[in-house]
Amino acid sequence: FVVFDQVQKSYDGVTLVVKNLNLSIAKGEFVTMLGPSGSGKTTCLMMLAGFETATHGDILLDGQPINDIPPHKRGIGMVFQNYALFPHMTVAENLAFPLQVRNISKSEQQEKVRRALDMVQMSKFANRRPVQLSGGQQQRIALARALVFEPELVLMDEPLGALDKQLREHMQLEIKRLHERLGISVVYVTHDQSEALTMSDRVAVFNDGVIKQLAPPEELYDKPDNAFVAQFIGENN
Ligand code: ATP
Repeated sequence: FVVFDQVQKSYDGVTLVVKNLNLSIAKGEFVTMLGPSGSGKTTCLMMLAGFETATHGDILLDGQPINDIPPHKRGIGMVFQNYALFPHMTVAENLAFPLQVRNISKSEQQEKVRRALDMVQMSKFANRRPVQLSGGQQQRIALARALVFEPELVLMDEPLGALDKQLREHMQLEIKRLHERLGISVVYVTHDQSEALTMSDRVAVFNDGVIKQLAPPEELYDKPDNAFVAQFIGENN
C-alpha cells in the first residue's frame, strides 16, 4: 500500500538525514516511527505527505509514485505539530472544508462534521474560531479534521504532544479505536516509547536517519536487534 524504496533525503546536498530507507506498510496497518529528536522521522512523514521530495529512491502509494498523484486524490489526512487550522473559519467550517473540496453534499457534510466533533468531544465548540480555543482543543479539532473525510491513510506527527496526560491517554484510545473501526492505515511519529508500544501494529525505531529495527512492540521488548533499540525502548520519557 505504502512503500519507501531505497529512499534518501538530504536538505543541503551533503548530509543525508534519511539514509537508504526501505519500509512497506500494509493497508489498515498502524506503523509508528519512533526515535530521538533529529533522527529523520518527520522528514519521512513530510516526504510521504508530498511536502518534501526524496533526494533518491521512490515513495509509492498503491504502486504509484506519490508525487504523480494530485494531493486531493491521495486520500491522506494529516495532523502535524504545526499544521494549523484556518484562522478565519469556525471550527465547523474548518471540518467541512475537506468535505467541500471532495464535493460531498451539504447534508452529508453536516452529519460528518457532527460525528467528528462528537468523536473528539468538541461538539460545544462548533461555532468558535481557532483563536478562541486552547492549544489542546485546537489539536483535537486538527485531529477531527484529518479524520472527517474518512481517509485511507492518516499521517500524524506528535499529535498528542500538547495535551495533558489524561486527555492524551483518552485520545490514544480514540485514535486506536478509530483505526480499528475505519480500517485506516496510520503512520504515526513520536519520540514517546510507551505511546508507540501501546498503539502500534509495528514500530520502526529510527536513529540517525536509519531504521534500527522494524517489529511489533512485543518483539522490540523481547528481541531487540541491537544495543540502541534495547536501550531506547528501555528508557522512560
Ligand atoms: P523531532 O522529533 O525533533 O521532530 P525528527 O526525528 O522528526 O526529530 P527530522 O525533523 O526529520 O527529525 O530532522 C532530521 C534532520 O534533518 C535534523 O538534523 C534536522 O535538523 C534536519 N532538517 C529537518 N528539516 C530540515 C529543513 N527543512 N532544512 C534543513 N534541515 C532540516
